[in-house]
Amino acid sequence: NVMTTIYNFAAGPATMPDSVINQIKEDLPSYANSGMSVMEISHRSALFDGIIDDAKQDLRDLLGIPDNYQVLFFQGGCTLQFTAAPLNLANNYHRIALLDSGHWADRARDEAQRVGTKVDVLASTKADHYTKLPVLKSLTQNTYDYLHITTNNTIEGTAYSELPDTGATELVGDMSSNFLGQQYDMKKFGLVMAGAQKNLGIAGLTIVIVRNDLIGKVKNLPSMIDYDLFAKKNSMFNTPPVFAIYTAGLVLKWLKEQGGVSEMERRNRQKSGLLYDFLDNSQLFTAPVEKAARSLTNVPFITGQPELDTKLIAQAADVGLLNIKGHRSVGGMRASLYNAMPYAGVEKLVDFLNKFEKNNR
Ligand code: PLP
Repeated sequence: NVMTTIYNFAAGPATMPDSVINQIKEDLPSYANSGMSVMEISHRSALFDGIIDDAKQDLRDLLGIPDNYQVLFFQGGCTLQFTAAPLNLANNYHRIALLDSGHWADRARDEAQRVGTKVDVLASTKADHYTKLPVLKSLTQNTYDYLHITTNNTIEGTAYSELPDTGATELVGDMSSNFLGQQYDMKKFGLVMAGAQKNLGIAGLTIVIVRNDLIGKVKNLPSMIDYDLFAKKNSMFNTPPVFAIYTAGLVLKWLKEQGGVSEMERRNRQKSGLLYDFLDNSQLFTAPVEKAARSLTNVPFITGQPELDTKLIAQAADVGLLNIKGHRSVGGMRASLYNAMPYAGVEKLVDFLNKFEKNNR
């Protein structure tokens, strides 16, 4: 009975590097010879100080985060940051701008409105079923506290390779699904938010990177979403997600060993290129997203025949290609190719799709 190699194409929580899983196994009974598991150590211990400070520094190194930015660790997922960002930052005009690139941009709009922030959608590609990216015409008048974008649209499979020019308006980026997988100039953002469970480990940890001058302006915010308070407390106002921060630290070390974000982007281009090339030359499959807007990490594709899609998803799972079902709003299939997905996984997927096409025409 030969074990099949499993490749997990899920959109998140996502596949992790094998070496990180192995390190966790090794560390689990006794972290750094302490006789305690990492899940048992105090967040007020020197051991944990080492973990959180290393993770912060490694993130700074990998992303080139300037000194005048804070690196903060929150719980509550990126969804909580859809609330936290307007409460902390939208304190001048109480109005933000947003580019509607799909589901997660719409969620950000909804949560901002729930806390009384006005949201102007400056462009939307809803009419194109989000197969393109909304283009910002111009933002000459600064009447917004910031412009919110989703750098990579996990469900629709689009990503910004060039950031919109926002003029004097701050740019806020939800980078959840291409954080550390594609290079961006951090100086162009006032704030970046990202859940950890795609390219940085496990759910339960959310990263916020924010420029110093934008925080500390609103008094008496709920403590758990107060950026200034978390900056002052080194993200340890209360018990932080110790295990998730430890895991993120291991992933960051792995990323450094692999050659950093530029190397990840090179690999992600290579992996997604292999899949897009196959799809574009296929008679059966279509990749609906416009070429210039295609994501390096989330690749939706369809046959146009829902019963055939269902058959394909089941057959793929039988050979160890897991979780390629598309999001219910888009249908069809989606392959997520995060940093820890090896090239060999995409080769196996393309090989499978090729055979499936031959057998089903
Ligand atoms: N933003 C993007 C781009 C996402 O892909 C997701 C989750 O998949 C979220 C936000 C929501 O993140 P969370 O589940 O951590 O709240």
